[in-house]
Amino acid sequence: MILHLNQEIDQATIQALTDKYQAIHFVLENKHILVTPSKDKSIHAGDEKYVAQSWAMDSDIQLASSKYIPQKRRIAIAPNLIIGGDSNNTLVITGPCSVESEEQINTSAEFVQSLGIKVLRAGCYKPRTSPYTFQGLGLEGLKLLDKMRSKYDLKIITEVKDSSHVDEVIEYADIVQIGAKAMYDQGILKKCAKTNKPILIKRGFGSTLQEFVQAAEFVLSGGNPNVILCERGIRTFETKTRFTLDLCGVAYLKEYTNLPIILDPSHAMGYSYGVADLTRACIAMGIDGVLIETHPNPAVAKSDASQQLNHDQFKSLYQSMNAVAGAIGRKIV
Ligand code: PEP
Ligand code: MN
Repeated sequence: MILHLNQEIDQATIQALTDKYQAIHFVLENKHILVTPSKDKSIHAGDEKYVAQSWAMDSDIQLASSKYIPQKRRIAIAPNLIIGGDSNNTLVITGPCSVESEEQINTSAEFVQSLGIKVLRAGCYKPRTSPYTFQGLGLEGLKLLDKMRSKYDLKIITEVKDSSHVDEVIEYADIVQIGAKAMYDQGILKKCAKTNKPILIKRGFGSTLQEFVQAAEFVLSGGNPNVILCERGIRTFETKTRFTLDLCGVAYLKEYTNLPIILDPSHAMGYSYGVADLTRACIAMGIDGVLIETHPNPAVAKSDASQQLNHDQFKSLYQSMNAVAGAIGRKIV
């Protein structure tokens, strides 16, 4: 149950109500909000005077639910770069899997800017499945991304993989990406709740939709309303592709949540040959953005080499995006 408390309530009463309902309390735009366990469906007799509005919820998908906020949340990546709300924008994010060197990220950033794309992606802390592979440049990589942001006037999305560097990533990123393997890390989620920066949560590849959205609830209930969900493929019995992009799940998220949705066909597919077709299919679903890995020379990429598009491949994909978006009344930004 979500309760919006009346404005004039004093601190002691708020604390007493928080304890009584075993609720999480946070403040958003000067409004005191309590979120109780979803099994509680009504306020206790006598408490009506404290409550301006209340919502009984079906499950612990609460703040993210379209039952609470029917329209899609509006998230400002920059004052003039909006997703969600009534924007009808589909944001394109691209860049390499990892920051590998200044030359590599500079070539990538220059390419991204030349197309008029506003958001550059690249990881500095890589959640690799083997300790013997490239782990990312860490802080040095963040500093290079910072340089690219000012040199090319770009916004930066980069990932956090564990809580040891979450503060650094929050400081350097314009959008904080929580990696699929980090989706359950409550240390990360709770830190991300204490900033106002947009947080993109990738779906763990073994996570149900309920678990995925509940990860978002940790950030929302800590007071950060700027959460974006990212479907990036789940593990199924199929081994011919790296993962399976769950577009049925995306339809569910569009219907039942109020969070903008970004799709990542690169990690789902695992091979560059399928990425363009999948991207167009994703855009046709009317989602809020796509995240696509590109590399100046994918053959020598230090991570995710097989799935990254080279710049020519990406350019021809990019040219086809507007027509698909336009066909369903959306705009590529
Ligand atoms: C990435 O974006 O490069 C990445 C590692 O993604 P995921 O967390 O979805 O595997
Ligand atoms: Mn990657």
